Amino acid sequence: MPAESNRAGGAEAQPEVHPLAAPLVAGHRRALARAITLAESSRPDHQQEAQRLLAEVLPHAGRSVRIGLTGVPGVGKSTFIEALGLHLTGAGHKVAVLAVDPSSQRTGGSIMGDKTRMPGLTADPNAFIRPSPSGGALGGVARRTREAITLCEAAGHDVILIETVGVGQSETQVAAMTDVFVLLTLPNAGDELQGLKRGIMERADVCVVNKADTDPAATNRAQSELAAALHLLTPRLADWQPRVLQSSALRGRGLEEVWAAVQDFMSSPERVERKRRAQTGTWFDDLLREAAWERLSAGIDVAELRRTRSQVLAGTLTPVQGVLNLMPPTGA
Ligand code: GDP
Repeated sequence: MPAESNRAGGAEAQPEVHPLAAPLVAGHRRALARAITLAESSRPDHQQEAQRLLAEVLPHAGRSVRIGLTGVPGVGKSTFIEALGLHLTGAGHKVAVLAVDPSSQRTGGSIMGDKTRMPGLTADPNAFIRPSPSGGALGGVARRTREAITLCEAAGHDVILIETVGVGQSETQVAAMTDVFVLLTLPNAGDELQGLKRGIMERADVCVVNKADTDPAATNRAQSELAAALHLLTPRLADWQPRVLQSSALRGRGLEEVWAAVQDFMSSPERVERKRRAQTGTWFDDLLREAAWERLSAGIDVAELRRTRSQVLAGTLTPVQGVLNLMPPTGA
């Protein structure tokens, strides 16, 4: 059989190398941007292509420091990323900045918004900035961001900064996909800390009191209070005690210390590997649950679902009975 017809023949055909793979791995920005766009597309044929490309470049991924950054709006996240990013590109790193905003309905137009927030990095050939993807299908924003991380890594970016833009779920999502999770707070953050979800503080590997220039005494106080609060929590990782530092992103102070803490965290390959494996495991489980639910819910009659739910609420069915009634017979 001629090679051509064999290729078109389906099952045994060897998939061709995706045309974006080589330029992506060579670090061409346009290829990286196009690959991320492909992965963000919800068209089924694009999705298939993107999965193939991701599988192809996967061996080139994984060699970066993935840093998550969170904090209330106005705490200085963009300023901090701009300053740290420029510091790192100046030291020879290739930096990628991604954002996670689960509520994002943004379109191409708002890319400018992100870029004007970080003018220095935007103009820096060793930095790549990408706004938050919008929701969409299976895995939504979190999946698209994880795929963007893989693609950026394959393109040679060795520092990936992932910023939470939205409120709500984005902190948890970012913490679940980064090696080092950094929480930025303010010098007079008493109220802010009270309001901060406990879960977020528990997940922080490094806390930074930013805007130290505005009130050094309050910054020192906030730093000790935060350290004391963190000490009361059970550390998530047995071999890492969260650090509390100070910075002035505006004046470029304290950035080396934050970077040193990040490097310290990364200095144990076992710790990083353990964290990444746990994250991948959780991600797989979540995706599977979501995919299973999507498939199953497509076969559930909505009217029957409503009826069953009312019966459960009225107490004529137990929740377990209700769920079992709605499940398709096993073996079907
Ligand atoms: P984001 O909403 O968390 O991204 O915060 P931005 O980076 O946009 O910063 C909000 C405001 O705080 C801006 O006006 C910044 O110039 C200012 N800002 C950020 N970092 C510092 C800092 O370290 N010191 C001072 N004085 N102002 C800062």
